Amino acid sequence: EGINTVIVGRPNVGKSTLMNRLSGFERSIVTDIAGTTRDVVEESVRLGDLTLRLSDTAGLRDTPDRIEQLGVEIAYRRLEEAELILAVFDSTAPLLPQDRELISRIGKRRAVAICNKSDAGSSLTPDELSAHFAYVIPISAKTGEGMEQLSSALHALF
Ligand code: GDP
Ligand code: MG
Repeated sequence: EGINTVIVGRPNVGKSTLMNRLSGFERSIVTDIAGTTRDVVEESVRLGDLTLRLSDTAGLRDTPDRIEQLGVEIAYRRLEEAELILAVFDSTAPLLPQDRELISRIGKRRAVAICNKSDAGSSLTPDELSAHFAYVIPISAKTGEGMEQLSSALHALF
């Protein structure tokens, strides 16, 4: 049980770091090597009075690697099935085509935009995301900064 929640975004934005931050231990592999999370890693997490059934997914990008491409397809399928979407973006970089593709796939679904790596910079202007998402939350999955705001936004959605 729990809310079927998917963590999605392009490679290296910090999806697995967020997964680990939310689950309170090292569950998902964190690395600078894009394409590391290929399978879906799942964990049930209590957040206040919500239970989230989290799925950490492969980074969304075009790739010639067949196995990685399969992971990307699975990630998009999980996105379709999810009740709640945690869309992760990188605060230190402008939006890329893969980010825009994700935004368009999310459409009007129940989702929160998470601007991760807030500790490292802010090249991402929140306005670009506020046009599409009711909640745009800067966080640092690395330091834990912004996690209360994220929790509040999720409680407001459910
Ligand atoms: P994923 O590919 O989206 O799962 O990204 P990872 O969680 O594997 O992280 C990719 C890289 O970004 C790693 O080197 C992480 O240490 C780093 N990273 C993740 N979250 C943060 C953050 O909040 N701040 C900073 N500065 N680095 C982060
Ligand atoms: Mg990962």
